[in-house]
Amino acid sequence: MEQTRQNYLAWLRDAHAMEEQALAMMQSMASRLETYPQLRKRIQDHIRETEGQVSALSRLLDRQGANASVVKDTLGKMTAFAQSMSGMFTGDEVVKGTLGSYTFENMEIATYRILITAAEQLGDTEAVEVFIRCLEEEEAMADWLAGHSAEITRTYLSRAELDLPAQR
Ligand code: MG
Ligand code: FE
Repeated sequence: MEQTRQNYLAWLRDAHAMEEQALAMMQSMASRLETYPQLRKRIQDHIRETEGQVSALSRLLDRQGANASVVKDTLGKMTAFAQSMSGMFTGDEVVKGTLGSYTFENMEIATYRILITAAEQLGDTEAVEVFIRCLEEEEAMADWLAGHSAEITRTYLSRAELDLPAQR
């Protein structure tokens, strides 16, 4: 069971780092989306949800006695990974941002499914409840993006045809 607890802890730290990264990427994206108010609103709502997720994961880490410096190390690694996706978020093209967001949300979904399974193995029902709540928020965000990507793409394409700044 000790190995299971160690694995769970490592995955929990990764999830915390992932959510910190999600916050940074969404904040950068939301600040650029003047001509896509619906998308901006949805991202802003998800930023608030994500802030709640970061606190909830921090509380679970504190409860496990995981120290902050280890969290910092993992965050460094995660940032390097996320840099490989950074073109999607830091570029000023909303379609790539939408693609990157959808990809990231699905990584979050997979992460919470894994954490739910590990916490169940440990009999940690409080943690399971936290992860289920996070999972539902990620699924709702992924569904929203899937449901709006056609509209976002059409808006982008028609603005480009009119030679309007496609992003703003
Ligand atoms: Mg999240
Ligand atoms: Fe998310």
